[in-house]
Parts: sequence; C-alpha cells; structure tokens
Amino acid sequence: MVMNSQEEIKSLVETLNRYRNEYYTLDAPSVEDAEYDRLYARLEKLENENPDLVRADSPTQIVGGRVLEGFKKFTHPYNLYSLQDAFSLEEVAEFDARVRKTFPNPEYICELKIDGLSLSLYYEDGRLVTAATRGDGSVGEDITAQVRQIADVPQTLPDAIDLILRGEAYLPRKNFDQLNSERELEGLPSFANPRNAAAGTLRQLDTRVVKKRGLATFLYQAAGEAPRETQEEVLEYFAQLGFVVNPDRIMANNLDEIYAFIEKCTQKRDNLAYDIDGVVIKVNNLAQQDELGFTVKFPRWAIAYKFPPELAETKILSVDWTVGRTGVVTPTANMTPVTLAQTTVSRATLHNVDYITEKDVRLGDTVMIYKAGDIIPAVQRVLLNKRPADSQPLEIPTHCPECASELVHYEDEVALRCVNPLCPAQIREKLIHFASRGAMNIVGLGEKVVTALYDNGLIHDVADIYRLTEPDLLKLDNLGEKSALKLLSAIDNSRANSVERLIFGLGIRHVGSKAAKILAQHFGNLEKIVLAKPEEIAEIPALGMTVAHAVHSYFQLEGSQKLLEELKLAGLNFDYLGALPKKDGILSGKTVVLTGKLSTLTRNEAKEKLESLGAVVTGSVSKKTDLVVAGEAAGSKLAKAEELGIEVWSENDLAKL
Ligand code: NAD
Repeated sequence: MVMNSQEEIKSLVETLNRYRNEYYTLDAPSVEDAEYDRLYARLEKLENENPDLVRADSPTQIVGGRVLEGFKKFTHPYNLYSLQDAFSLEEVAEFDARVRKTFPNPEYICELKIDGLSLSLYYEDGRLVTAATRGDGSVGEDITAQVRQIADVPQTLPDAIDLILRGEAYLPRKNFDQLNSERELEGLPSFANPRNAAAGTLRQLDTRVVKKRGLATFLYQAAGEAPRETQEEVLEYFAQLGFVVNPDRIMANNLDEIYAFIEKCTQKRDNLAYDIDGVVIKVNNLAQQDELGFTVKFPRWAIAYKFPPELAETKILSVDWTVGRTGVVTPTANMTPVTLAQTTVSRATLHNVDYITEKDVRLGDTVMIYKAGDIIPAVQRVLLNKRPADSQPLEIPTHCPECASELVHYEDEVALRCVNPLCPAQIREKLIHFASRGAMNIVGLGEKVVTALYDNGLIHDVADIYRLTEPDLLKLDNLGEKSALKLLSAIDNSRANSVERLIFGLGIRHVGSKAAKILAQHFGNLEKIVLAKPEEIAEIPALGMTVAHAVHSYFQLEGSQKLLEELKLAGLNFDYLGALPKKDGILSGKTVVLTGKLSTLTRNEAKEKLESLGAVVTGSVSKKTDLVVAGEAAGSKLAKAEELGIEVWSENDLAKL
C-alpha cells in the first residue's frame, strides 16, 4: 500500500508513541533504540518537508513519557529538556557551525552521555526535599523516597543552600547482571538493558527494592539560577558538595578535539562499569547558553552525539554453507545490508547447527544482529512477530556443498564436518592458512591467487607452493610478470622463516601460533618434535595432553612425514631462530597468566616484562599455571586462581622486579 505523507506521518506518530509508552512508561521496550531512532528520523524528515502536517502529539514536539500510576505527580518549576541527537560527525559539525554564528570562538565541554534515567534533585536549606523523574519535561513522578535509598545521593549538603540539580541515575553493569540472573532464577522476565532496569527500579513503589539493587548517579546540570559561570565550574562545585560527577570530560575549542574525544570514548565504552550511549557536547559558558536558548524540545547550546547502533535489525535472505580447512562446515547468513557499528554489513555468522536450532533462525526472518569481536556480526535474536506465516525451519545440509560427500555430526561436538581429506574446499583453505600472515607470511598468496592456482591444477598441497615457476604463475588471469616475480620472491623468502611459522602453517589440530612457538622454543628443531613422545610434549609448561596427542598423531601420519620430506627438499628451514626464554630468569619455566586492568603498564609491556624474566605467558588459568598477575577489577581468572591455590601477584609486585 502506498501512503501519502499525511498518512505516513500519522502512522509513524502512532507507532512511535506506542514505542515511547513501552519505553518511558512501562520500562519494557519492544524494539531496539536504533529502530526507534530510524523511524523518528523518517518522521522528522517528513515533517520538515511538510511543516503544516506536524501534529501536536508528534514525538518531535514532546519530551519523555507519562506519570506512572501510584506515584505522586511533581510539577517541575523549570522545563526539563531533552537533547538533540547527532548520529554522525557531520551533524556535530553542523551544530558547531550554528553555535559559531552567534559565538565565533566557543569553548565546549564534552561529557559522557550516561544511559540511565533522567533525574531532578531539589535541595532546600541544604536538605534533599524532592527528587523527581523528568516525565514529559514539565510533570514527572515524585520519587523522593526511592532516591533516598541511593547511597551516593547526599541527604544533606555542607552548606544550607537551595539548589536544583539534574543528573542521571543508572544501574552499574555488575548489578544489572546480578539482578537479571536473580530474576531468571525466580522465573521473572529479564530487563532488556541497564537503562530499563534503572528506570524500572526507581519507579518501584517498594523502596527496599531500590536500596537492594544499588543504583548510582552522575549529576551534570544546575537548574534555575546558575551557581557558577561555566559548566565545568558547576561540575567542580557539585563535586565539592559531595555529588558524584563523571570524571571523563574534556574542554574543546574545535571539532578535531571533539572528534578525538568521541573516538576515545567509543574505544573505552565497553570497559566502563556503566552503559553510555554517546557523548554530550555543550557550550561551556552559561551566559552564552542562556543567549542561545531552547527550541520546544532541545537546548540550542548542546548536542548528543549518539554512538552508532551496536544492534541492527535486518532480514535473512539466504544461507551459505562453507567448508573450512579442518572440514568444519559453517553457516553464514546473507542479509539485507544494514549499518552496524559504523560499517555496512550484509553477512552474519550462524556459527553451527545447534545455534541455528536453538535460535530457530529461518529464511525470511527479521533478526537483530550485533558485532561479535570485530569481524563478522552474529544474530542476537529472531523477531518472531515479524516472521512470515509460511516460514519453515532452515534446511540443514546432509552433504558437503563442495565435494558432495556425506557430512558427519560427531556427538561430542557442535560442528558439522566434511571428513573427505580430498575435499577441494579443505585443501584450498589449508593452503590459504599456510600462506597467511600469522603462518608463513607469503605476501601475494591470498585467497584469490590460491584458488586460481588450485583451480588450474598448479598446487594441491603446501609443498607444491615451492615448486611453482614463473611460467606457472603467468598462466593465471590477472597476474602480470611483475606480480609473478614478486610472489616467487615472497615464496623464496618464506623458506628461511623461523620454524614456528611452519608448525603453525601445517594446521595441526589444537596448535595455534602460541603453541607452535612454545614447541619450537622447547625442541629447537622440527625433526625433534616429529620424534617426540606425547609425554615429552605434555611436560612442557603451558601445553597439555590434548596438544601433545594432536601433535604426535599428526606426525605419525604417513602423509605428514612425506610432506615434511618434500618441504625439507624444497629448502625450508626447520630450526627455531627466535630468542629463547631466559633459562636463569626469576620466572624461568613458570607459566603466568595476566588478568584485570593494569594501571602502570600496558598488557603488552607487562607480557614483555614477564617474558624477559623467563616466564611463559598464557591466556587461561589451569592447574598448570604457576602465577597469576591480577590488576584492577580482575574477574573469573582471579577467582579460579584462588580456587586452585595459585600464587597471585599484584601489578605492584611485578613492578618491583
Ligand atoms: P536522550 O536519552 O537521547 O537524551 C537526553 C537525555 O540524556 C537527557 O534527558 C539526560 O537524561 C541524558 N543525559 C545523559 N548524560 C547526560 C549529560 N552528560 N548531559 C546531559 N544529559 C545527559 O533523549 P530522550 O528524549 O530521553 O530519549 C530519546 C532516546 O530514547 C531515543 O533516541 C531512543 O534511542 C530512546 N527511545 C527508545 C524507545 C524504544 O522503544 N526503544 C522509545 C523511546 C525512546
């Protein structure tokens, strides 16, 4: 159905108002913020094009939500505004340009945008008399009794002054996780995120619950008569009075400084103890703020840069099943392209068959996706209310998409495997891995060239790489003489690599680059590893029986032995050429795990220091770990170390050495 602008505006206003009610009043949103923001932007665009169609009940004209039943209403003496959002750096630049029309050299203050519940505190004669939610900007809920349960809100101030403040109440992530696991145990629905949990907690008639959940606050604004001349001075004043103000803020005189702060906050966002959803940029001088004034909804002296959505909604169009170098068959969804964490994505991993079954992902499903790690996004959940009526469970392949041999689903693993050693996909993937940067580092021998060489029958195993000639390479389309010579020289150079690259490149199960290096350092030479008994390998600190068996059985295979002979003949170096761990260091022979946040050293510096003392640094705590160095906020690794009775050092202990 094609709607005209008036109809579309009406429909958007109705939908958005329904979402607003769920979000602000019921603390139970049914859509992600990114979806709300997308519809809101569409409405704003239509209203800008048709100013006479703007409705009084449009969310662009009103702030927040209604007062919840059971609460006393509180009428604010001042309007509590929202903030204008900027979803791109360009929109921040436009804001800056607008400010500069009035004040050519503005000074800005940039603060974190805390993702909590907006709060107003009223002090008279130095005593907290009222606390209220923002509500619709003029009438909010009286939550004084609830706010009295928040430990960091002072009940009395050092001076008998009158003061109105605005701030944000939030639930620290740690408390949020605990709250949701308790709710799960009790069979109660989980809160969608810490913001909703904070809002749901404060708008809770039972004040004991508020106390138990451990809300916290950051105060950021003075209302009414300003107690100081700049925003920065106001924040310092608040801190002197005993309020918590957020320490992460900077002064900025230009866009570059603002952008750098945004970038820094984007990086550190995940490591904070609470959720933030952006950065607020404000004109620092309060007299200038007054002069810039307000629109119906926003101050003109501030803008909220919103981080790009971490979650996005999209549709599954098809699913590819691809075979990796170990034969594991992995499903990847192709989706309608969507912006996620600043990039456009159109593929998401579906991990394995169990994952598909558990989430019941189907073709045509609308799903929420998120960035997992930094490469390919994953599906968070299926939006069942948007599922087509005729949808069918996804068909799981029974045969390899590459070589058509029957696939195996071993009972003890989630993966679906192609066990045909001659499967072309596996061979290609093994070759790509062998040449990759972390392994033999043969520049120019990436996926495309490997596939072309394989398809032309020029390489079948890694030894063939060292038999390639210039005429061979020139048979490939799109590979000129210059590139061919470059590639041959890169192949030739790789012969001299220290042997851990070769060990990793062989793709032995359970042997990553780290284990490869430890093996190479310990034995010094590949031939010694080939002859090693499993027990000898298992004795090495940081390696265990699993690696030992995998290495031993790989080199027992006739095919592996033949391959090594060919590689030897091709002139590959089999010796370890890197530095050896110190034998006489204070931590020689010890396996050490680093955990928590370090304050004086970076992770890498700490690791280098430990290695220079002779330690082998590994990632996870086990019975084989000799020592754990724990920084601030160390979590499960420290707990495990304590449980296993492993020695624990502080960062200070390490620094003393
Ligand atoms: P907002 O949350 O985008 O920004 C304004 C608020 O930021 C202020 O009221 C204040 O409470 C807060 N804030 C945090 N740190 C601050 C600081 N340092 N300085 C000043 N203010 C600070 O605006 P809003 O109008 O409350 O909410 C709109 C947003 O809420 C939308 O963009 C959307 O993402 C979300 N929303 C979602 C749904 C949904 O259904 N998912 C519905 C409605 C609204």
